[in-house]
Amino acid sequence: MSQLELKSEIQRLKEENNALILAHTYQNDEVQDIADYIGDSLELSRLAANTPHQVLVFCGVHFMAESAAILSPEKTVLLPAPDAGCPMADMADAETVREWRVKYPQATVVSYVNTSAAVKAESDICCTSSNALRVVRSLDAEEIIFLPDKNLGSYIASQVPEKRFHLWPGFCRTHHRVTVEDVEKAKNAYPEAKVLIHPECQPAVSARADFVGSTKQIVEQVGKLEASIFIIGTEMGIIHGLKKRYPQKKFYLLTPGLVCPNMKKITLREIAASLQHLEPVISVAEPIRTQARLALERMLALS
Ligand code: SF4
Repeated sequence: MSQLELKSEIQRLKEENNALILAHTYQNDEVQDIADYIGDSLELSRLAANTPHQVLVFCGVHFMAESAAILSPEKTVLLPAPDAGCPMADMADAETVREWRVKYPQATVVSYVNTSAAVKAESDICCTSSNALRVVRSLDAEEIIFLPDKNLGSYIASQVPEKRFHLWPGFCRTHHRVTVEDVEKAKNAYPEAKVLIHPECQPAVSARADFVGSTKQIVEQVGKLEASIFIIGTEMGIIHGLKKRYPQKKFYLLTPGLVCPNMKKITLREIAASLQHLEPVISVAEPIRTQARLALERMLALS
């Protein structure tokens, strides 16, 4: 089937199944173009929980579809590429979270949504890169176990010096490989550009940014700034949306290596097949789902 035929087939199947297509900002361009909504983890979690559609096609990675299944067990949540995982989420496991709780009994466990349902079930509250600061500041606890991203955790810790952080040693392979030299090189090439960087990058890299924020915050920040040239320090998928939204501005990726291979596993072909067969379905077994839901709902209540 051609791209055009695939698009019209997806449209037909979507209507037939009363389905909604949700795509993360890091998805392939053609997936973003046919999605009903494009957003970050927080926006997509909210949409998944509130939409009346019975079938959700989640174009992202496994933990995102799992969060939708946790919040909306009555819906059919499809992940068109079931092997699209998140290596950072795989760096945390429930048993070690329980061990850390014993080691730091006073600490509150804050899990980035980039975790499995089993880890969320062991957590007090979740956060995304958009609301991590608000979540941590809302807590009475003076001690925080932050997992699994040590880079996001370091960034939040630097903004909340009154709390003590125990940082999990996880990281995003895509963002972690950006170096200070990459930033210097990009700044030298475009001295008039503003540098916007995601907090999953290493602290020394984020420290050289004009702005540090989540994908949603980066998109908003571009709109607020007068500048016309931007160096973007997050996964390359974001550039597609930025160009569409701000056609008069120029965007350069901080480094060519900023690609998440898992986010690129979904294409129009997988979406059409997924809608046709209504699989692969992502679900979470009880009682983990109910426990994980508490941590997610505490986060959603704050944002
Ligand atoms: S970009 Fe990084 S954190 Fe996001 S899904 Fe890919 S590996 Fe995971």
